[in-house]
Amino acid sequence: MPTSIRPTALSKLGDDRLQITWDDGRIGTIVWAKLREVCPCASCNEDRHKIFEPLAKPTEAGLSLRVLQEKEIPKHGPVKPTALTAVGNYAYKIVWSDGHDTGIFTFEFLHSLCDFSPLSAGERGRG
Ligand SMILES: [Zn+2]
Repeated sequence: MPTSIRPTALSKLGDDRLQITWDDGRIGTIVWAKLREVCPCASCNEDRHKIFEPLAKPTEAGLSLRVLQEKEIPKHGPVKPTALTAVGNYAYKIVWSDGHDTGIFTFEFLHSLCDFSPLSAGERGRG
């Protein structure tokens, strides 16, 4: 069984991301837009297939599937979470400002999405 890792604290970081403190003491961040894009619910999975299929092109090396750049993903405007609810002892349900509320994000999934790089390193290069 995989290690069961749990968040000990969730908070908004700025306007665009979620900060999660995990029970191993590490602090990760996830951009809301990214969370929305990877929503694991069935209807989003269908949408993703529609997006990805035309991008899967046969090449000499076989089928190559490239990863969408953020700017290539159609946006409906900035999507923000309106509610975050614990589901049992293993997940969070996120309700989005576009009304979408069927995505259940397990702790492990959230953990895998977290960016654990120190903020100062990434943000410093700007300006
Ligand atoms: Zn969804």
